Amino acid sequence: MISRRNLIFLGAPGAGKGTLADMLAEEFGLVHISTGDILRDEIKNGTELGRKAKEFVTSGGLVPDEIVAGMVASRLTKDDCANGFILDGFPRTLNQAELLEKSLAKVSRKIDKVVLFEASEDLLIKRISERVICDKCKANFNKVFSPPKKNGVCDKCGGSLLQRPDDTIEKAAYRLKVYSEQTAPLIPYYKTRALLAVIDAGQEKKISYPALLGVLN
Ligand code: ADP
Repeated sequence: MISRRNLIFLGAPGAGKGTLADMLAEEFGLVHISTGDILRDEIKNGTELGRKAKEFVTSGGLVPDEIVAGMVASRLTKDDCANGFILDGFPRTLNQAELLEKSLAKVSRKIDKVVLFEASEDLLIKRISERVICDKCKANFNKVFSPPKKNGVCDKCGGSLLQRPDDTIEKAAYRLKVYSEQTAPLIPYYKTRALLAVIDAGQEKKISYPALLGVLN
């Protein structure tokens, strides 16, 4: 069992937040809220929100705070979040963190832990540029580190594996710059609030997952 169930996963693109969030959500019945996944779905479905977000997501820049924060706030009001949730990829700016605090207060919830995923920049670029994602169930694979059994086919649901348009080496480097400029200031922000725990995300998941469980007890 884990005692901390309302979580933020913080870390650069490629740090493995989504992969460990999926594992944790499945084992403990938490809701995995990935703002990246929600935005990609909105874009795919051609919604108004998707149209507004598209140019930011494809270029690797950040979608405006109000759009993303509104999306998360409405997701957090759903009943299934009562058992615990993992915010993966949100907040990404100090302003988003403040907007989040307000929306959590409205539903009488609070964050129990912020887990920082640490990994070297070289490794992050390698992971991102070799990553493929299932079009249907969003499972992540890596052509080098964790290849699917059959090339281009998802092991979990048989869906097609595709590379994200922002997962090229150039765009990955840009996203890492955006991370260090706009998201890294959240590290001291949550440290001051005594919420931060750090895990070494440069390891394989069989090592990093137990390390994650260790900081959630
Ligand atoms: P990664 O962690 O690999 O960068 P995500 O799937 O979390 O990927 O995000 C993909 C893109 O979606 C980001 O580059 C950004 O354009 C947009 N996005 C996701 N979350 C946020 C957020 N909290 N604020 C602004 N933009 C976001």
